[in-house]
Amino acid sequence: MSKALDAAALRLQFPILNREVNGKPLVYLDHAASSQKPIAVIEAQREYLMHYHANVHRGVHALSQQATDAFENARTIVQHHIGAEESCETIWTGGATDAINLVAQSWGRAHIGAGDTILITKMEHHANIVPWQMLAEEVGAHVEAVEVLENGALDEEDLAAKLAKGPRLFAFVHVSNTLGTVNDAKALTEQAHAAGATVLIDGCQAVPHMDVDVQDVGCDFYIFSGHKVYGPTGIGVLYGKRMLLEAMRPWRGGGEMIDAVSIENGTTYAGLPHKFEAGTPHISGAIALGVALNWLKGLGAGAVMDHEMMLAAQARKGLSSIEGMRFIGTTSEAAGVVSFVIEGTHPYDIGTLLDSQGVAVRTGHHCTQPLMERYGIPGTVRASFGVYNTLQEVDTFVAATVKAVRMLRG
Ligand code: PLP
Repeated sequence: MSKALDAAALRLQFPILNREVNGKPLVYLDHAASSQKPIAVIEAQREYLMHYHANVHRGVHALSQQATDAFENARTIVQHHIGAEESCETIWTGGATDAINLVAQSWGRAHIGAGDTILITKMEHHANIVPWQMLAEEVGAHVEAVEVLENGALDEEDLAAKLAKGPRLFAFVHVSNTLGTVNDAKALTEQAHAAGATVLIDGCQAVPHMDVDVQDVGCDFYIFSGHKVYGPTGIGVLYGKRMLLEAMRPWRGGGEMIDAVSIENGTTYAGLPHKFEAGTPHISGAIALGVALNWLKGLGAGAVMDHEMMLAAQARKGLSSIEGMRFIGTTSEAAGVVSFVIEGTHPYDIGTLLDSQGVAVRTGHHCTQPLMERYGIPGTVRASFGVYNTLQEVDTFVAATVKAVRMLRG
């Protein structure tokens, strides 16, 4: 059994948590949107910028070599963190959105054609919807989405029926950012593969909370963003099986991704992973993401999930006493997400009143409009927990919500 997290001690590593908002101590409950950064991550970026900034892969000089070593070492950290077989299967991207667009534009254009189906789910973030719609429009394919049950689980019957139609791709979210639903990535992958579909998993909300092993899951592509996992913004990861990545055309052209360039004879491309990394990458971001993942691993993924489940359970218990409370997504507390609407109030008003009490939650559609349509609501209030949140903060959040509702109801 892993050791329980000491949230109070962890907080000391996050300078931002000392600040006040609207004269009240900050209670930051917006981790599904982005997490705060520990000193180790901030320092890793600073160290690079202060002492060994140089471009990677291009120089024989000492600084360039030091930067390249740190950059490639971070890639190896990612490889081990998600259980990829080889580090060249780990491609740096600008984020999860960028990674999905890469797959859509490179793998998608080569494998999806007129009349084909791309299967997604109704609980996808727009990042895992729009790139597929754009591709479908271009090539004459169409996008179908698996229904979501009232409790926020995937509708298995609908999934089986839609897989039986033979989609080329099944792209689904590992953990829903709005519902907190944890999908069984391995079982879904097996099911999709049995139906002949290639599998892409959006792991943005899984990597910060649980152990992920892409080889065990068996998926073809897995993506996540650095900034939700206590790392920097502007950096993300695409994992792909080597055979698939090798067969894919580069998406963006430029420096870093070539073997040789000739006006007369055209261009030949670099091998993996560089052929997908055109231009100067986000070097400090990659290095600091490696630090963030090691830092997170040091806490123990079991301990992270236990802690966040405890916070989410306490929040639900406290909020349940509010008349007219409707939780959206009730299958799991594992991802530390509590989403809700309250009869007679608008999520935006609740969010604004919570902010006035120093509590940062997200309100709105959370980039999951099809899900909002499914539930017939304009948006939700979403509290999402991180490793340094405390039970006391949960109580502050619940009390602030009770107060906000009282104010709105007059
Ligand atoms: N997928 C999920 C489930 C998300 O929650 C998010 C961000 O909220 C994204 C994709 C997009 O991530 P990014 O904006 O970092 O590319």
